[in-house]
Amino acid sequence: MDTQEKLDILSRDAQYDLSCACGTKNPAEHRTRSGDGSSWLYPVTTASGGAGIMLKTLMGNRCSNDCRYCPLRANQDFRPAVLSPEEIASFFYDLQKRRGLIGLFLSSAVLSTSDKTMQLLIDAARILRTRHAYRGFIHLKVIPGCSLSAIDEALRYASALSLNIEVPSAEHFAPLSSTQSWRDDIWEPLRYLASKTAVGTRHAAVGTSSQFIVGASDEDDRAILGSVNELYSEMGIGRIYYSAYQRGLGESTIAGERARVIEPDLFGNETSAAHLVREHRLYQADWLLRVYGFGYEELPFAHDGNLSLEKDPKQLWAEANPSRFPLSVNRATREELLRVPGIGPTWAARIVQARRAGRLSSLSSLGFSPSLVAKAGRYLTL
Ligand code: SF4
Repeated sequence: MDTQEKLDILSRDAQYDLSCACGTKNPAEHRTRSGDGSSWLYPVTTASGGAGIMLKTLMGNRCSNDCRYCPLRANQDFRPAVLSPEEIASFFYDLQKRRGLIGLFLSSAVLSTSDKTMQLLIDAARILRTRHAYRGFIHLKVIPGCSLSAIDEALRYASALSLNIEVPSAEHFAPLSSTQSWRDDIWEPLRYLASKTAVGTRHAAVGTSSQFIVGASDEDDRAILGSVNELYSEMGIGRIYYSAYQRGLGESTIAGERARVIEPDLFGNETSAAHLVREHRLYQADWLLRVYGFGYEELPFAHDGNLSLEKDPKQLWAEANPSRFPLSVNRATREELLRVPGIGPTWAARIVQARRAGRLSSLSSLGFSPSLVAKAGRYLTL
């Protein structure tokens, strides 16, 4: 196989990993490809709001682990492919010079051992940094079960590192894999990564992220978001991603699944519609924790420990807290405005900015659309 053939196979298998931040500002578009026929190229929204294209691929796809939700798990019948570090480094470097790619996301299935696989990823990054003097963005996946010294070496070359947590606890992971220990192979390396990239440390500029698989085990949203809260507020992990379990690619351990309706996703895989909605609600709750200043204890879980599939969590919180409203548009703080359904950081900043010039007398004059006036106006007074 030539490099492009391998990339066709390996990039298809990389689609399940959303934690590279490939995709646009809308989390629902994480699985969107660039649309130019190259399946390994993905659109990306950068932290500064710009846009570009990232090359995203696995180094190899035949895994020695057996995670039940994963299509790459051991003993599956699919075409194997492996890239060498020289091969992917040269291919990416040439392509980024011709096409102006903004970065490389390298992940892999576990090829024989975690440390050997990690070394392939590190070697590719090292070749790019040293032989090609590439100074751009490189995101490496930390392979579960790798040694702490491998993480140290990856930190020398990577702009960002991620390690997928998958589920909130060892108890939730036990039915999913017989070859890995959640605590030893995932949790402890993730804690180590967080400590090495904490504010004030030498590698503080290295971005960190992790990802949950949603719906493959029996954890509820309360457990997932409790873990998310710890990852953000105590460990300082930069971003968390959520990937709906895709039925048909792996096996579910749940006897009676929450979802009944099955829909093909963007890649033609069958994914339960409820799992996709659940993924979306988790992203909304994540924004409440990470951007909107909500505390974990304020999230509106139902009696079964899950977020509502029908309503967005911020709307539900507002309905459950009528004493907090209406807010005066002219006096509310930015933090209070962020709690109004429909108002995000951009609108809150616009209101705060506009009232410096004088008292506001209408929302429409700020550019609020009629639907936003209808949604937010119920919670505001002029
Ligand atoms: S270790 Fe990763 S690639 Fe391997 S089976 Fe588990 S989830 Fe899949």
